[in-house]
Amino acid sequence: MTEPSAAARAPRRSKPAIDPRPGLSGLPEGALEAWLAAEGQPAYRAKQIRDGVWRQDIVAVDELRNLPAALRQSLDRDFRVDTIAADEVTVSDKGLTEKTLHLLSDGALIESVLMHYPARGRGEDGRPEHRERHTLCISSQAGCAVGCPFCATGELGFGRDLETAEILDQVRHAARRLAPRGDHLTNVVFMGMGEPLLNLDRVLEAVAALSDPQRFGMGARHVVVSTSGVVPGIRLLPELNPQFTLAISLHAARDPLRDVLVPLNRRWPVAEVVAAARDLARTTGRRVSYEYVMISGVNDTDVDADALAGLLRGDLAHVNLIPMNPVAHTPWQASSPQRVAQFAARLQQGGVGATVRRNRGQDAGAACGQLAADRAGEPPAPTVAHRRAVIVRQSEAALRGDRSAERLPADLEAAVAGWAGNR
Ligand code: SAH
Ligand code: SF4
Repeated sequence: MTEPSAAARAPRRSKPAIDPRPGLSGLPEGALEAWLAAEGQPAYRAKQIRDGVWRQDIVAVDELRNLPAALRQSLDRDFRVDTIAADEVTVSDKGLTEKTLHLLSDGALIESVLMHYPARGRGEDGRPEHRERHTLCISSQAGCAVGCPFCATGELGFGRDLETAEILDQVRHAARRLAPRGDHLTNVVFMGMGEPLLNLDRVLEAVAALSDPQRFGMGARHVVVSTSGVVPGIRLLPELNPQFTLAISLHAARDPLRDVLVPLNRRWPVAEVVAAARDLARTTGRRVSYEYVMISGVNDTDVDADALAGLLRGDLAHVNLIPMNPVAHTPWQASSPQRVAQFAARLQQGGVGATVRRNRGQDAGAACGQLAADRAGEPPAPTVAHRRAVIVRQSEAALRGDRSAERLPADLEAAVAGWAGNR
């Protein structure tokens, strides 16, 4: 047996424990009915409670006014009506972007971003061609083990998987804020903190609740799950027929570069990720979108555009080009608007559809995980300098075509092994 490390021996600062009561919004179908039966309560109470959770977006048991006080008490004893302890909202883009930092019961911080898109265009009948949209971007984990160097969440490292109710309560909080304005959510995207396919069971439960007409009731085309490329997870999807559209965070079409930009690529390389996504698109008939964060001089050259077009030509696929949001501790800048436009044009000439996406909420630090990373505090200057030097060295080697010989970071190795072991 080896000696425990100094870190393991050091006294731990006590952390608030997770409240053991399950969140009401995350209960699987039938669970509420079973609980009511065990409590000797009539079955019709289930609909009243569900409507409170999903139509009124209640956050406290007292809001269930149509229940007798004794039943409210038993509910409160066994469940949490809300799994989020506190919200801190930052508004930017002249009110079009609202970023929320959510505090969970154990002190973990996660983020969601609500983006408003006004109606645009006029048809011949005078009606807007594109209806108003309200899109919510939600988190599936606190932190992330994948560690993409351009991502503030990657910088934070892995915290923990979110419970199903913690995922869904982000949605209910946004819906509750929208309701007094007469608005409702039109789209939900899993593009906040965390890698959804490394918390797949809970994400699937959350999607089931989102698409269930008795609960949130949103159509499959309006829910998007984004993954950095957990191939066995993508391979499971066709038979599960989940009610969402898949997005793949590709960011590079060549393995040496993707090994650096998305470290998970060292386990599941580009060709395997694209083959799995292609098979899914064939089965579901739904287009897969590929996210591509544009980083100046790193992944935005003509050679990259041609490699990407060669990879996706003929597929049921679409590329979204996103200029990188500047993030502390990386040496990189966003590609210029001209470079992004040229890259998009070259993809289109190569037979692949592409759209340039605008970044939202830069002035509010709304890049993925940025608020929570700011809260965690700046690491010491030598750590930042070392990290930058490593990224520069790795990306130079990648541009020469050398593949990374580095192992996966320990947290990621554990997450990948755990995932495989559970199936
Ligand atoms: N982990 C999953 C989903 C969450 S990340 C994934 O990677 O797909 C959601 C999206 O935000 C990803 O496409 C990611 O590449 C993008 N993103 C992260 N950091 C960014 C930054 N600094 N600028 C622009 N987009 C970023
Ligand atoms: Fe994780 Fe996605 Fe950020 Fe990469 S981009 S570190 S996979 S959250």
